[in-house]
Amino acid sequence: MKISQDKTPKNDGSGLESIDPKVFEIIEREHNRQKDNIELIASANFVSRAVLEATGSILTNKVAEGYPGRRYFSGCENIDELENLAIARAKELFGAAHANLEPYTGSQANHAVYLTVLKPGDRILGMDLGHGGHLSHGAKFTMTGKIYDCHFYKVDPDTERLDYDRILAQAQEIRPKLMIAGASAYPRTIDFQRFREIADQVGAYLLADIAHISGLVAAGLHPSPVPYAHFVTSSTQKTLRGPRSGMILLGEHSAAEFARKIDSAVFPGVQGAVHVHAIAAKAVMLKEAMSPSFVAYQRQNLENSQILAQDLLERGYRLVSGGTDNHLMLIDLTDKGITGKEAEDRLASVRITVNKNMLPYDSQKPTICSGIRLGTSAITTRGFAGEEIHCIAHLIDKMLSSEPTVQTITKVKNEVSRLCKLHPHIDSIDEPEKSNMALERQYQLQH
Ligand SMILES: *Cc1c(COP(=O)(O)O)cnc(C)c1O
Repeated sequence: MKISQDKTPKNDGSGLESIDPKVFEIIEREHNRQKDNIELIASANFVSRAVLEATGSILTNKVAEGYPGRRYFSGCENIDELENLAIARAKELFGAAHANLEPYTGSQANHAVYLTVLKPGDRILGMDLGHGGHLSHGAKFTMTGKIYDCHFYKVDPDTERLDYDRILAQAQEIRPKLMIAGASAYPRTIDFQRFREIADQVGAYLLADIAHISGLVAAGLHPSPVPYAHFVTSSTQKTLRGPRSGMILLGEHSAAEFARKIDSAVFPGVQGAVHVHAIAAKAVMLKEAMSPSFVAYQRQNLENSQILAQDLLERGYRLVSGGTDNHLMLIDLTDKGITGKEAEDRLASVRITVNKNMLPYDSQKPTICSGIRLGTSAITTRGFAGEEIHCIAHLIDKMLSSEPTVQTITKVKNEVSRLCKLHPHIDSIDEPEKSNMALERQYQLQH
């Protein structure tokens, strides 16, 4: 018998560079951008090489729906073990009784919670987007905003902090079915216990969305909502330093009632098949987050944030709420005579990356904004500390205090390059051999 000639094109095993030079070249450019910029976007971070390896692994080939031991496809023995490992680690790290590691993102995790406890038209009370809340908490133009009846609390106009008595009064008036505690741009500690008391007083469920602070919570440097909130959701790519993904945690007090329900809300409620590669990356992330070096990283993150905030205050910048308790801060630029948009662009021109941000009671449009948000998670991962943070504050001031001259721009750019070269090693984007050489060079320079 003659074996038929195989006409299907085979992958010849070539890598990205030869298969798709265009995409390869874009990634190379982005690689260099990440190395040459001082990254101060508060939600940004750099994953470890281990997390990156898991993200880019062959696990992306495996199809699986459902949960370990309850799959709709066969061949799931390895990934059942993997997902169980990730779940066990999440429970241990956060002291949770139940964990769902399948949400594709933090927003998806929130949607699953909504599907679990709400019917269309039910009322939600969350933090106003312009006061630090998140899009997925019911902004008008989102799916959540269209399906549910969404209301928002604001920060106190004087202190720019959450005023729990006012939130209680508003909750008593609105009678929400679900309250949301958690923010994208709130520089202060959140009192989740108080939020639970308020929720209980009005008969609402409480969702704590810790997308921004989950790394601090994991390290024991921000009070955990797990003992209080009915549901805890998080992104995993921010302070937790994992892949772009999400997760849901339930405490002892709510797991019995909601564990099964939340699992069915994630799949098949709002999602399809599991992103198995992301589960692996989250498992690695959780292992890293259990190590003493992760706690040291978060301590340094908070210290860097304090240094940056103090320096800016000393240079006459107004920070929303007067400072920060966490990894981020909001600068009000109103009295400096520039908008958030202009500040973002000016800093981008010298390779300092930040984002314009609405401030509480902002009079500017969301496309312009009166402020910028800064965070220290990414630069802390990269190794910046102490004197270098003072230096970054100085450079920001040079660019924002007045219209910078051409000479100033050149000088600041050179300083940014110098700082980036002091910390050339970014685990996930350097090849190990090259980065070892860079570290050796740095060592020789220092000794
Ligand atoms: C970032 C963030 C999310 C979710 O973001 P994803 O991009 O969907 O992971 C949700 N809530 C808050 C408060 C956030 O800051």
